[in-house]
Amino acid sequence: MHTGAMERTCLIGKDRAELEAFALSLGLEAYRGRQLFHWIYRKRATSFEEMTNLKKSLREQLAEKAELHLLRLDQVQESRAEPTRKFLFRLPDGLAVETVYMEDADRRTICISSQVGCALGCDFCATGRMGFVRNLTAGEMVDQILWVERFLATEITNVVVMGMGEPFLNYDEVLKAAEIIADPEGIAIGKRRITISTSGIVPAIYRFVNEKRRFKLAVSLNATTDEVRSQLMPINRKYPLEKLLEAVRYYAAHNHNRITFEYILIRGVNDTPEDARRLKKLLRGIPCKINLIPYNPIDGRYHAPDEEDLQRFIRPLLSMPAAITIRRSKGQDISAACGQLYTEVGKGKAKAAILV
Ligand code: SAH
Ligand code: SF4
Repeated sequence: MHTGAMERTCLIGKDRAELEAFALSLGLEAYRGRQLFHWIYRKRATSFEEMTNLKKSLREQLAEKAELHLLRLDQVQESRAEPTRKFLFRLPDGLAVETVYMEDADRRTICISSQVGCALGCDFCATGRMGFVRNLTAGEMVDQILWVERFLATEITNVVVMGMGEPFLNYDEVLKAAEIIADPEGIAIGKRRITISTSGIVPAIYRFVNEKRRFKLAVSLNATTDEVRSQLMPINRKYPLEKLLEAVRYYAAHNHNRITFEYILIRGVNDTPEDARRLKKLLRGIPCKINLIPYNPIDGRYHAPDEEDLQRFIRPLLSMPAAITIRRSKGQDISAACGQLYTEVGKGKAKAAILV
C-alpha cells in the first residue's frame, strides 16, 4: 500500500542483483539482498514480519522503506463447472489486467498477461481490439502468480504467457520475469513448464534462440496462406509465413524443446481439409506440437467450426509425427478463454463474481 508522503520501493520483480543493490543502498551487506530474494519468491513471504532470519530492527527498517506487492486484486470470477478462475488485477496506475487459473489432471496452470492491450490488432482477438496501452513490468507479471497462489492457497505448476499482450514486444521485462519464475531460489517453476506464446515477432525469436533461453515457445500460426494470415493477423505483412517458419526452423535446430503451434479454428476461414494439408506441408520436418483451438467468439464476426468440420480438419494431420491436441476451452461461462480477456469485465455477465 502507498501510505504517507514517502514512496516505498516495491521489491517484487527485482532480480537478485537489484535486491543486492537495494540492500547496499540501505547500508546492509549484499547477502541480505539474496535473503530477500529467497523470502519473497521461494518462500512467498507476504510481509517483512515473516522474514525471521532478519533481525527485528531490520524487518522494521525494511517495512518502512519497501513494500512487497504491486497489484491489487479487484475481482475474481469462478466458473460454475470447473475450477477455472479469472482474476482482474488493478495496476498501480489504475489500469487493469486479467489472469486466468486452470486445472487439469496434476497441472495447475496460470495464464498471465504481459501488456495492457496489444498493438497487433489481430482481427479475432478481444485484446487486439483494445489497442496498445502499455507494457507490464516484470514485477507486475510475477505478482500475478504470487497473488493467485496466495488467494487459492495452492502452488502453480505451469505458467503460460498467453494472456493479454504480445510478450515478444515486451521482451526484456517478460524474460526478466520468466527468469525469476524459473530460478530454483525464486518461484522455482522449471523452464520447461513456462511457455511464452508469440504471434511471430521474427527478430525476437532469433534473439530468444541466440540468448539460449530454455523456456518453451509457442507460435500462433492460425492460417496456412499469407493471404488469410494477413487478414487475421496484420503482423503477417511484416513477418510473412516464409520468414516466420525460417525463424522456427532456426529455433528447432538450436533448441531441444519442441515448439508448439497454436492454430485457432474459425469456421469457413481456415478450417478446411485443404488448410490441414497445407499445414502439414508447411510444418514438415519441424519437431512440434500442434494445439488446435476452436475459436471463442468475441462478437458475431467469426464462429467456431462444428464438430464434423473439426474432425475433417484433423484427419489429414493424423499421419504427422507431431502431437496434436485440441484445446477445449475452459471457463467459457466466465469468458476465461484465450482472446476473450478483459472486455466483458464490468458488463455484469459473470455468473459468480466475488468482489474482494
Ligand atoms: N500475443 C500472443 C499471446 C497472447 S494471445 C500470441 O498472439 O500468441 C494467446 C493465444 O490466444 C493466441 O494463440 C491467439 O491466437 C489466441 N486467441 C486470441 N483470440 C482468440 C479467440 N477469440 N479464440 C481462441 N483463441 C484466441
Ligand atoms: Fe495481440 Fe496475440 Fe491478441 Fe494478436 S492474438 S492481438 S498478438 S494478444
